[in-house]
Amino acid sequence: MSAVFVPVPDEMLVGGKWRQADGPKTRVLDPATGAVLQEISQSCADDVDEAVARGAEAAADPGWRDLLPHQRARYLHAIADAVEAAADSLATLQSFNTGKALRETRALVASAVGTFRYFAAVLETSDEAKTTSRGEYLTWVKQEPIGVIGAIAPWNSPIASDAQKIAPALAAGNAVVLKPAEWTPLVSLALARLIVDSGLPAGLLSVLPGRGSVVGDAIVRHPGIGKVSFTGGTDTGRGIAHLAAEKLMPVSLELGGKSPTMVLDDADVEQAIAGVMYGIFSSSGQSCIAGSRLFVAESLYDDFLDRLVERTRQLVVGNGFDDATHVGPLVHPKHRDSVAAYVDLARAEGGTVRCGGGVPDDPRLADGAYYLPTIIDGLANSARVCQEEIFGPVLLALPFRDEDDLVAQANDSVFGLASGIWTRDYRRALRLADRIQAGTVWINTYKAFSISTPFGGIKESGLDTEKGREGIAAYSRAKGVYLGMSDTPHPWAPRTPRVDTAG
Ligand code: NAD
Repeated sequence: MSAVFVPVPDEMLVGGKWRQADGPKTRVLDPATGAVLQEISQSCADDVDEAVARGAEAAADPGWRDLLPHQRARYLHAIADAVEAAADSLATLQSFNTGKALRETRALVASAVGTFRYFAAVLETSDEAKTTSRGEYLTWVKQEPIGVIGAIAPWNSPIASDAQKIAPALAAGNAVVLKPAEWTPLVSLALARLIVDSGLPAGLLSVLPGRGSVVGDAIVRHPGIGKVSFTGGTDTGRGIAHLAAEKLMPVSLELGGKSPTMVLDDADVEQAIAGVMYGIFSSSGQSCIAGSRLFVAESLYDDFLDRLVERTRQLVVGNGFDDATHVGPLVHPKHRDSVAAYVDLARAEGGTVRCGGGVPDDPRLADGAYYLPTIIDGLANSARVCQEEIFGPVLLALPFRDEDDLVAQANDSVFGLASGIWTRDYRRALRLADRIQAGTVWINTYKAFSISTPFGGIKESGLDTEKGREGIAAYSRAKGVYLGMSDTPHPWAPRTPRVDTAG
């Protein structure tokens, strides 16, 4: 645990220039110790105006606007190289700021590198197909940039969520104004320095730390922002969708979840136990896709739960820089308190806390925002804790009778983000995969993620998808072009015979 915190300069990036923001300072905490890592000044609505104006100019500059796809790909490769070269320091910074285990933040940085490379590769390999003509004309679709994209990110996986927005938005030829979450601005600011230094033309990226209700709101309302890509809570996303509707602005919303993970009676129990634990307790449960509702076949339920509880008690809760750590602290003491309040609610609703249910008693962890991995059962799926997103290391376990009962319970949720199925019978798995209302289904695995597979939620988990080849189209406008090929006079042309002047 010899990691050293290196502060990032307290400067926002506005339209290609670094300068200190005028707003009040936010204290950025190390959730593992409660110590203040550093302070970061908050931007304001005027900074949004400037960032959008400079972004619009940069996006319209022929030096960027007229680049061919393979030329734009070079910028994305240069960013990927820069992020890769700084991987260790970025992962360390993110572990300090979010408390996540270093092994997880290393994977997040690698995923950001992969995201820039993937969208560079999509640019290099994209085809411009002619659409099928239904008359005497040629017709095709031209994808054009939208202009300036507003990107609003949550605190749980900053570098990965930043990359998932910045890479496809730049690939499509846009400029980006990014607002990181209040608690975790450091990695986004460090990433922005790498991007600027990699040679991206000035003004194409602005990074404005600040409050959601000030900077985020100003981005959404700004007339110069052509699309908002938002990842965060469902209530915030709904408010953004309302404002976007007034502007008739497209939005993509990646929102909350309460994902079911389902263990059928023929599952490989050891694999399922490991997958269920990883699905909920990695990242301390602060993952939109966390498998936070566990459904186990009635015939397996008691035995499975006993073993799961025993294995969960063995998980190591500790500092993310410790190699042995499975479960790090929560991102902030306030968030830990909100998770603890949900567990109190579960008790009040009549639930049985099978393990966890409090803060660790290790005195070395006393100042951090830790909470023990917690499993609760004895509640119906209608209980508030089974319906609301807790976003912490809290698993609600429920039995199911048969497939219909499982589908009814799993789908009885306002959310529809992810799901997991553990069974040896591929027919049952595929049948369930069809019936479960979720944007992602994992079968005999959980939280496996590929940038090439589109990701998005249904129901109140979101609108639109990110990732995949279509990820670039989400930041583009499609324009249909028709080229007339007919020699026949137009029916509205004067009926004079054509004079053939040739020869
Ligand atoms: P949040 O909604 O509180 O904040 C997300 C971002 O929105 C922050 O940058 C915040 O400052 C900003 N914001 C807040 N109010 C705003 C407003 N009025 N206008 C514009 N921006 C505003 O969410 P959070 O607590 O940071 O993140 C946790 C949530 O994010 C969870 O619900 C989680 O499920 C969700 N999430 C979803 C995904 C996904 O891909 N579906 C991924 C990660 C996190």
